[in-house]
Amino acid sequence: MSNTDFSSAEWRPSPNYWNGFDKRDFIVIHATASCGEEYVPNFDASTGKSVHYAIAKDGHVVQYVREANSAWGNCCATGKSTFRQDYNWNKSTVSIENEKSSCDNSEPLTDAQYHSLLMLVRDIAQRWNIPLVYGQQGVRGIIYHHDLDPINKARCPGTFPYATFFRDLQGGPPMNGLPKGATDDGTTIHFPNGLVIVKGFRARYLEMAKAGEVPDDDEPLVNEYPCQPVEKSDPAWWGTSQTNKGSAQETRYFRFGYSPLKGVRVTYVGQELHWYQQQITSGAH
Ligand SMILES: [Zn+2]
Repeated sequence: MSNTDFSSAEWRPSPNYWNGFDKRDFIVIHATASCGEEYVPNFDASTGKSVHYAIAKDGHVVQYVREANSAWGNCCATGKSTFRQDYNWNKSTVSIENEKSSCDNSEPLTDAQYHSLLMLVRDIAQRWNIPLVYGQQGVRGIIYHHDLDPINKARCPGTFPYATFFRDLQGGPPMNGLPKGATDDGTTIHFPNGLVIVKGFRARYLEMAKAGEVPDDDEPLVNEYPCQPVEKSDPAWWGTSQTNKGSAQETRYFRFGYSPLKGVRVTYVGQELHWYQQQITSGAH
């Protein structure tokens, strides 16, 4: 029978742990900032420290302490942490180190390391029924060491794919899927370039975003504007010249059309571009 909880981990037992645990509420992510030294120490008695797991740059996973016992990786919440400061968090956490050889955890995880991290976190979370969400005091989930110790461990885990981690972990489309920097306030989607998407185009855009169909670098090129025809290249769909009268809006990847009689449509953006391209070509002769 394997000594490890994560089946593919190497078992490198450390004496630094307490038997048992209090709760299993959080998985804590660290990085080693080992400043050129060996990435995965053996956590022998003289170190007085341990974690449950470490992940090497090549994706190799080492386990030091069984998940049913408490490792010594993240004792106490300090400073401005929102976590209780009168409690030893080693008793409610499973901790994971990631190998980083810089002194300040400034380099990103390798692809292999990140892949192993996702597999390991999902595996632990399933065993202890921990939700795959960002945890906080009172909300079970996954947290970073700097959440517990924002002063001394501000750079643990340092550079990390914070923006996509939970999306990747859940293996599905992003929570709202809006492009980078875009926010929806309930009536308007605001973009970093100052432009907005509202009303029917907003509703459709939110649906597409939630389905994971909107690229992260999409943004409006213009605010919604009145036009007739709404779409040059597909008059058959829009019907009469009267129903082909309304408004439109382009983003980098999409074009939205609307008329009061036909409603909202995500237009055939390539077909429409082709129509204009042909006008230019024929005009050049
Ligand atoms: Zn740490």
